[in-house]
Amino acid sequence: MNILERFNAMEYGPAPESRSEADGWLKARDFSKALFIGGEWRAAAGSKTFATNDPSDGKLLAKVSDAGKADIDAAVQAAAKALPKWSTASGFERAKVLYAIGRGMQRHQRLLAVLESLDNGKPIRESRDIDVPLAIRHFIHHAGWAQALEREFPDHAPAGVVGQIIPWNFPLLMLAWKVAPALAAGCTVVLKPAELTPLTAILFSEICDRAGVPKGVVNIVPGGPDAGAAIVNHAGVQKIAFTGSSEVGKIIRKATAGSGKKLSLELGGKSAFIVFEDADLDSAVEGLVDGIWFNQGQVCCAGSRLLVQEGIAEAFIAKVKARMAKLRVGPPLDKNTDVGPLVDHTQIDRVKRLVAEGAKQGATCWQPDFALPRGGYYYHPTLATGVAPANILAQEEVFGPVLATMSFRNIEEAVELANNTRYGLAASVWSENLNVALHVAPQLKAGVVWINGTNMFDAACGFGGYRESGFGREGGKEGMLEYLTLKAPLGALLKATPPPSFPALAEGETLGIDRTAKLFIGGKQARPDGNYSFAVVDKKGKLVGEAGLGSRKDIRDAVAAARACKAWGDATAYNRSQVLYYLAENLSARTDEFSARIAALTGAAPKTARAEVDQSIERLFYYAGMADKFEGRVHAPPARAVTLALHEPVGVVGIVAGDDAPLLGLVSLVAPALAMGNTVVAVPSARAPLVATDLYQVIEYSDLPAGSINIVTGHAPELAAVLAKHDDVDGLWLVADAETCAKAEAESIGNLKRMWTTNGHAMDWTSENAEGDAFLRRAVEVKNVWTPYGD
Ligand code: NAD
Repeated sequence: MNILERFNAMEYGPAPESRSEADGWLKARDFSKALFIGGEWRAAAGSKTFATNDPSDGKLLAKVSDAGKADIDAAVQAAAKALPKWSTASGFERAKVLYAIGRGMQRHQRLLAVLESLDNGKPIRESRDIDVPLAIRHFIHHAGWAQALEREFPDHAPAGVVGQIIPWNFPLLMLAWKVAPALAAGCTVVLKPAELTPLTAILFSEICDRAGVPKGVVNIVPGGPDAGAAIVNHAGVQKIAFTGSSEVGKIIRKATAGSGKKLSLELGGKSAFIVFEDADLDSAVEGLVDGIWFNQGQVCCAGSRLLVQEGIAEAFIAKVKARMAKLRVGPPLDKNTDVGPLVDHTQIDRVKRLVAEGAKQGATCWQPDFALPRGGYYYHPTLATGVAPANILAQEEVFGPVLATMSFRNIEEAVELANNTRYGLAASVWSENLNVALHVAPQLKAGVVWINGTNMFDAACGFGGYRESGFGREGGKEGMLEYLTLKAPLGALLKATPPPSFPALAEGETLGIDRTAKLFIGGKQARPDGNYSFAVVDKKGKLVGEAGLGSRKDIRDAVAAARACKAWGDATAYNRSQVLYYLAENLSARTDEFSARIAALTGAAPKTARAEVDQSIERLFYYAGMADKFEGRVHAPPARAVTLALHEPVGVVGIVAGDDAPLLGLVSLVAPALAMGNTVVAVPSARAPLVATDLYQVIEYSDLPAGSINIVTGHAPELAAVLAKHDDVDGLWLVADAETCAKAEAESIGNLKRMWTTNGHAMDWTSENAEGDAFLRRAVEVKNVWTPYGD
């Protein structure tokens, strides 16, 4: 045998990481008292426990306290008790605690990594080199935010007691993503780890205790879905941060509707991994290994859909297969292992079922022919080719080591295929041509795009999804905002708007030649579909006109027009700015007419009515000016990469403006939405709809492209419900009574649209809180585009 032959024949020997320290901890600890509440470890009420097992052999690791409703209640009370002191501690005090937690984790880095691999099954290389260091980075990074808080977020206050619920795939990392920003913001937390992987959270509670975290600031309550639901439904919790499946995310959205709780949802994905023919193919193959076989594919942002350009598809797939044949599937604690076991037998069952169904639907499923380790929940890395876009493997999140492949011909087709999913978490784009990559990235409906890379994360860069991948960001400035609320005072509670009455003329009275205002859809005045109108009366009850009674069909038409209007989103920010200035200019030319209309319909004094018009013009000017100034950021993560945090429009935004200050209220919501490139379907005040319908002509003269703004008059609660249910509406803003707001939130779960409501309260549109960054922020999604540099 010559040297080359010897080299090629060389086998990896076992390289196990020692588990003795972890075994010692497991043996010594009393897991029947694993609830960390108010700084003490307690048993669950009724001493209930659940088992957590080692996925590599199915053996029991520990029987852990299983929190019930009473325990959750105790944890929320402990967090509420700790809140006043923690939320008013100086930034420096909080920073010291966060830093001490980070340092404490560093001291137990190896133990944390081994426990994570034992409990979850992930290869030790990943827990040691990625999960644990990144979790530590989150605490150290957020120590800085604690001190920067007052200066960076002057008008904000801590959200309060926060309930946090996390999944099993990155147990410690997800905990860090949740706990670090919450503590930095001055919130206290009740965190529930996943029932399959509670161990590192329990060790974390010990680290918190030693790091001097004040009692009750961090409460850790292992338990199952019922414990999660008890957190979600607890009246003492002001904010819910959830990471997990889209299915449970929707349940939580519904459960919190109308409660006024802040909510962030980090959910599932079906991310595209796009390889153009000019990509460095070998690098792309290695990227793919990380993209889909990292953590056995149990990754929310796994690149589970490979889209490869037709000309290189065959060669690329051959390379992928060759690489797959060399993947080392083995025990998690072996340092040579690439792919470990899945977390649980239920997960194996799910993956098998989806692969079988995918094959039935026409996919060819290939697996390398090496043997899997005996025992444990191992599954072969799997490649599915010939996958039609509608195949279950292209549409459903498998959450396992299964890659579905498709090919495309050109950029347009790549983008179309990539966006053909209800999710929108992440995407990878591989091309040596940066022009192509940066041309594609903004077109992808995903919260994170990696160029020539994958699975890059950092505490300074926001992470989170579009569409059914959820809303809210974790990391960076955006992530901090999830744990803060605006200090602005709430307005009075609004009464429900009564259904509009139909025109009734007094004896001998006439409205003259058809004075029925129409709707404004797709740049044209349109009659309502049902041909109904409603009476518009002045403050004294005198009939002054009629307005079109918009229906479900009119909303659908308006949404279709808004969706079809590409010109507005594609326009430059400067261009949008000019159009909004022009709108203000044209409105100002009709100040007298609008003032008189407002005075007549609302009974406002002439001076007040004129002030409303003047302030509307000023507000339009403000947002015109902001169109090219409310920009993203550039992050410099600790990697050879820059991360561009781009502000992108949310899409089609529904706006229900309420009755107060009918012109100013409408302008205050429509202008920021338009400034950021969204298209709008607005429902104006039903009491003074003619103020909005008078705007049609102003809009027509102002160069707004057809469909960019659509106005449907009618019964606001009814139209709000239609907008909430419509899956082509991406965001919905409501100023309405509590019942209308709650109903809309509950009904928004179809596509998990971005909701903002006043939760039944009025807005004082004349106040300085009624304009500014808070409104612009609602009008954008932040997309983080990672661009590596160097060789
Ligand atoms: P899951 O939704 O079943 O469970 C997540 C957590 O929610 C667990 O702690 C569970 O006990 C709890 N839970 C379950 N039902 C609940 C209910 N009705 N009310 C409150 N809490 C409840 O998800 P999973 O199977 O543990 O995790 C996998 C999912 O997590 C995947 O869909 C994955 O994409 C997603 N995930 C997303 C991200 C992200 O950042 N977007 C990160 C990691 C994982």
